[in-house]
Amino acid sequence: MLTIARADRVFILTGAGVSAESGIPTFRGVGGWWRDHRIEDVASPHAWQRDRRLVWEFYAMRRRVASEAKPNPAHFTLASLERDFEERLFVCTQNVDDLHERAGSRKVVHMHGELFKSRCDTCSRPPFEDTNLYEAPAEIPRCECGGWIRPHICWFGEVPFELDGIYSALDQCTLFLAIGTSGAVEPAASFAAQVVGHARTVYLGLEKPSNASNFRDCHLGKAGEILPGLFTILR
Ligand code: NAD
Repeated sequence: MLTIARADRVFILTGAGVSAESGIPTFRGVGGWWRDHRIEDVASPHAWQRDRRLVWEFYAMRRRVASEAKPNPAHFTLASLERDFEERLFVCTQNVDDLHERAGSRKVVHMHGELFKSRCDTCSRPPFEDTNLYEAPAEIPRCECGGWIRPHICWFGEVPFELDGIYSALDQCTLFLAIGTSGAVEPAASFAAQVVGHARTVYLGLEKPSNASNFRDCHLGKAGEILPGLFTILR
């Protein structure tokens, strides 16, 4: 059982494991079953330069999978925690799906981007909602500036989004809870080490993560089964 006091500032970091029970494969799962490509071959600036259609084929496939998935009890529990804690809860996800939002979460920081948004690869036009590309386009769409429209995703070798806000929330948190993330992808893998001096650090996932030594408690099991009963909130 995890006790949360009203005065706590809670930082939640979610990873692919939180969406696994919704039917979205985890990182290793994707690499394992998608047309024998390594993830770096379809999710990197180099891949985009080499074969834009292949990259869009990969993301169109992921859009189809994510659009058919439904939020699970772990997503709903975090949405309900947000209603309780409001600005004292910071949800940062490495996931690019929209299952937190579809469960009712209103403020989610997507540090690795959003699957249903696209942007120009050249100009500073803001990312835009794009629910059209469920099949790879025959012609890669172009921006008015002449650039190519790409997925709004932080690829391997690119800098994640909203890091200033994330590091500020890490500095302020008193409880850090990571859910379903293997602790292998930086910079998120180092967040627990950064806060362990001033916050309680708790992990929930199927197995111990690579960075387990930075967590005070590890709860092993499925997020959708354990998270709904994990908290006691002191009123
Ligand atoms: P990861 O695949 O490296 O690790 C997933 C972790 O979740 C593993 O430790 C696994 O044991 C655990 N897990 C599996 N099923 C679980 C369950 N039911 N409950 C709790 N834990 C469970 O994923 P990661 O650490 O998030 O990093 C991989 C990268 O892949 C991220 O950058 C992310 O952007 C990307 N990714 C995102 C999605 C998505 O948006 N849903 C899916 C796949 C990959």
